[in-house]
Amino acid sequence: MKARMRVATEGRSGCGPVIPPLSEGLRPLRQQVFERIRAAGTIARVQLAKDLDVSPASVTTITSELIAVGLIQEVSAPREGGEGRGRPAVALGVRPTAHYVVGLKISDQDLSAVIVDFAGNRLADHRIDRRPVALTSAEVLDAIVGLVDAATLKAGMTRRDLSAVGIGMPGYIDSPAGRVIWSSVLSDRGVPLASLASAHLGLPVTIDNDANLCAMAELWFGAGRMLPDFAVVTIEQGLGMGMVLNHRLYRGALGLGMELGHTKAQLDGALCRCGQRGCLEAYVADYALAREATTALNWVYKDGQSMIVLLESLYDHAKAGNHAARSIFRRAGRYLAVGLANVVNLFDPPLIILAGARLRFDYLYAADTLAEMEAMVIETGRPLPRIEVHAWGDMLWAHGAAALALSTVTERLLSATSDIAAQ
Ligand SMILES: [Zn+2]
Repeated sequence: MKARMRVATEGRSGCGPVIPPLSEGLRPLRQQVFERIRAAGTIARVQLAKDLDVSPASVTTITSELIAVGLIQEVSAPREGGEGRGRPAVALGVRPTAHYVVGLKISDQDLSAVIVDFAGNRLADHRIDRRPVALTSAEVLDAIVGLVDAATLKAGMTRRDLSAVGIGMPGYIDSPAGRVIWSSVLSDRGVPLASLASAHLGLPVTIDNDANLCAMAELWFGAGRMLPDFAVVTIEQGLGMGMVLNHRLYRGALGLGMELGHTKAQLDGALCRCGQRGCLEAYVADYALAREATTALNWVYKDGQSMIVLLESLYDHAKAGNHAARSIFRRAGRYLAVGLANVVNLFDPPLIILAGARLRFDYLYAADTLAEMEAMVIETGRPLPRIEVHAWGDMLWAHGAAALALSTVTERLLSATSDIAAQ
């Protein structure tokens, strides 16, 4: 920390934030042009100039370059008012065939893959169930190669047609370094998975954690497209959070921020999978419910047994009026309320999306939980942020991982300061 402080202050005069020339907010104009076209689907040059507040001449120059290198194309667009005479209006769109990427999800329950084209269209997907046991690095790499090959085969492609791979898994993932610090799906720790997978596949690979990829999926394809800031809270094997600030995923200084599941909800509390005590997820996540269920309902949980079957049974008991089963969901709901209230008190996001595969455990998401949360949010007289519950489909993370791969490709092609034609 001291070293960093020195860099920031030594030998400088003036005041105000020291913003590097190509920071997030000051991306090269051609990248901004490309991203605007991609976000719009199709857009006319004149509208592009208006949206970006630049001259039509600049837009013409940049879009000509982007067309010349094959990243965008001219498309005919319907004239406004419908019945225009003469030639149809010309608009611009991303050239879907310019690049293809694959996104992979590696979770405790299953493996899935989604292939998308450069315009974000989903071309093929593939899913395999798996036993919930931790895999070695070698087993994970084999699974990754098998998944990519199966998905590309379904899309009528080969690995060579792909430009990048995005991989999502639960746990502590140092995304910029491409390292899995800890994951429930891996028996090894500190695995440089991105470079290992890249060597196995012969393709650039980017990795990130599941909650961040859910946020990416919402940012690229879902409810978060129109919002500068929002939070996604994921509840499944663990409790995760992805935070989008100013239309970008926020990861923190070391890429390990937003670990809502490991914020402390109780001093000296329940033991968490991370080894510490009192973490929020030790009260809310699947394994926390399962642990309580084995005690309250006198079940014996065996390693490798399906957690889903156990939780479904717990849920059925709760619905049938079993007091102990109800109290388990009720308690987890109260802790979830603490976590959500903390998110609101810290970030004040306009939208919180609750995402998970099995959000039908409605005891967790009942009005009681929201009322509890409201009681813990600082009183301002304003309404609570919007809270949406999104039960995710099988392919949501993988789709988010594909968005991660697409953004990696885009950055690589467009952020370099060298002449684009040289790429
Ligand atoms: Zn923890």
